Amino acid sequence: MVRSGYRLIALLILSIGAPVWASGTIDGLRMWPAPDHTRLVFDTSGPVEHSLFTLKNPDRLVIDIKNVRLATGINHLDLSQSLLSGMRSAQRGGKDLRVVLDLKGAVQPKSFALHPNEEYGHRLVIDLQDSTLTPTLTQTTIKSLSSKQKAREVVIAIDAGHGGEDPGAIGPNGVREKDVVLAIARRLKGLVDNEPGMRAVMIRDGDYFISLKKRVKLAREVHQADFFISIHADSFRDRRAYGSSVYTLSPNGASSEQARLLAEKENASDLIGGVSLDGKDDLLASVLLDLSQTATLEMSGDVASRVLSGLKGVGKLHKRRVEQAAFRVLKSPDLPSILVETAFISNPTEERKLQNGAHQQKLAQAMMSGVRDYFTQNPPPGTILAMNKKREHVISHGDTLSEIARHYQISLDTLRSANNLRDNSLRIGQVLRIPTDS
Ligand SMILES: [Zn+2]
Repeated sequence: MVRSGYRLIALLILSIGAPVWASGTIDGLRMWPAPDHTRLVFDTSGPVEHSLFTLKNPDRLVIDIKNVRLATGINHLDLSQSLLSGMRSAQRGGKDLRVVLDLKGAVQPKSFALHPNEEYGHRLVIDLQDSTLTPTLTQTTIKSLSSKQKAREVVIAIDAGHGGEDPGAIGPNGVREKDVVLAIARRLKGLVDNEPGMRAVMIRDGDYFISLKKRVKLAREVHQADFFISIHADSFRDRRAYGSSVYTLSPNGASSEQARLLAEKENASDLIGGVSLDGKDDLLASVLLDLSQTATLEMSGDVASRVLSGLKGVGKLHKRRVEQAAFRVLKSPDLPSILVETAFISNPTEERKLQNGAHQQKLAQAMMSGVRDYFTQNPPPGTILAMNKKREHVISHGDTLSEIARHYQISLDTLRSANNLRDNSLRIGQVLRIPTDS
C-alpha cells in the first residue's frame, strides 16, 4: 500500500513536473496593413487546428492554436498602420497557444490555413476586416451615380501586381517586383491625374496583398473604371532575357508557350499572397467568355498595341507584338484590360533600371501615351473627352472665323490661339478645335 502510494505520487510529480511540450511551432509572423483590413500571417511548422473569438470593451480578438508554441518573437511588428494596438501571447496548459490582439475598433475576423507552396510552408492567415469601412464604399457609389448626370472623367484603374505576402519576382540583387511595380504605378497615376478629362485609381497602394478576384472587383464595381492596366516585371531563369512586353486576355489558348507559362506564374499570386480556398473563383468562374466580350477584347488589343509602341521608345521590346494568355486578373467581361511586363527583373541591368526613378517615369510615360492616344480617339460616351472630341469644326465653303466663334460662343482670340492661327485664312476641310472659353 505504502509503496504503491509513493509510486502514485512519483507518477504525479512526473506528469506535473515534466512539461508537455507542444509538438508544433510558430516560426514566423508577418503583418500587412491594407486600407480596409489588416492581415496577420503565422508560419507554422505543420498544419494546425485553431479557433477565434472576439471580446468587447475593449475590442479584442483571441486566437487559440492547438499544440504549438512560439519559436519567434511577436513584438517586432509595427502596429502603427494596422487595426491593432497591441498583441500578447500565453501558453495554455503547456500545449496550446493563445494570442490576444488588442484592437483599435471592431473588426470582422476571417481565418484560413494555407498549404505549402514554392515560397512558403504551412501558414495560418488571420484577416481583420475594418467593420467601419462599409459606408465609405456606399458613398462612393452614390457619388458616382449622381455625377452621371454631367460629363465624367475617364477612369483608369492602375493595378500594381503582387504585394504583401507575395513579393512577385525577385531580381538577382534582391529587388522585389512588388516594390518597383508600385513605384511605376504611382508615377502613372500622377500622369493620368494630370491629363484633362482623366482620373486614375490605384487598385493597390501599399505593401499588402489583394486577390486577383478582388482586383477585378475593385476596378469594375467600386471604381467603375473604363480601363484596367496591371503592371508587372517578368523573370526568367536565363538572366539574359530582357525587354518589355504587353499582354491581353486570350479567350482560347495562349499565343505562345512562354505567354502560357507567364500567365500560370502570375495566376499563382493568389496561392502565394494568400487566398482562402473556400468559395474561390465564384466571380471569375461565372464570368464565361463569350461573343459579347469580343468588343472588350478588341479594345484591350487596341490599347495594348498603342502601349507597346510607346514602350518601344523606352527600351528594347521582348516581343514585337501583343501576346495573349489566360491571365485571371484580365478576366473582366466588360472592362478592357491589359497586363504590362515592364522589364525582366531577373536581368541584372534591367533590375537596376527598374529601381531608377527616371526610368520608371519613362515607362509610365510610355504607358500613358498609349492610353491617352486610345481614349482621345475613342472616348467613352458621357465623358469629358467625348464632349471635347465633339467640339471640332470642319471648315466648309463660306465659313469665317468670326462666325464660327460666334456660333460656339467663344472669343475669336480663344479660337485662334487654340488652333495656332496667325491670320483669318481657312481652307475647306480644315478641322478646328473648339475649346471651352475660360
Ligand atoms: Zn508579376
